[in-house]
Amino acid sequence: MVLETIPYQTKEEKKMFVGPHSEETKRKISKTQKGNKYCIGRKLSEKTKKKISEAHKGKKLPEDIKDKIRIAVSGKNNHFYGKHHTQESINKIRQSKIGKQHSKETKRKMSEQRMKGDNPNWRGGKSFEPYSSEFTEDLKMKIRIRDEYKCQFCGCFAKTVHHINYNKKDTRDRNLITLCIQHNATANGERKKWEHFYTILNHLRGV
Ligand SMILES: [Zn+2]
Repeated sequence: MVLETIPYQTKEEKKMFVGPHSEETKRKISKTQKGNKYCIGRKLSEKTKKKISEAHKGKKLPEDIKDKIRIAVSGKNNHFYGKHHTQESINKIRQSKIGKQHSKETKRKMSEQRMKGDNPNWRGGKSFEPYSSEFTEDLKMKIRIRDEYKCQFCGCFAKTVHHINYNKKDTRDRNLITLCIQHNATANGERKKWEHFYTILNHLRGV
């Protein structure tokens, strides 16, 4: 057990983790952790995981919950609200990226893996397909205005118009949604999940 990962609640609990635990201490820890759903390091059995998964299948998030999520992570509540990277930290980030170059062998392997379709984000090169000629600035503007220039996930200012079903030729209103840079990037992973989520969201909004 890695002690650092235990979220200490009180000084008393912290004290308990010094040195090997006696049976008495173990019992105390067990008691304090009982019912603590945030207990990190808790392992779920496959059966439990399956149960949770089944219980959530097909469930739609109610509007009030979605509103809560939006409020919770937008504007002043966002951890990066009003903050900016300093030039120094931008340079640091840049430097850390420059330093990391894959070897030719690694690049070849990565390319091979992608071609095999092992990467769930790889859609046979679909990402490189040209946008439909109907996906004009006018259309994007129309969608942004419809969505009030707000990310439809978090509610922060947004300009990116996302294709919900990832088909860039599908420019129907219902297949388009405004997202912030962060949530547009998030939608690039777990595509099935996000396609489902934003389809329902647009449907609920009456788009
Ligand atoms: Zn967002």
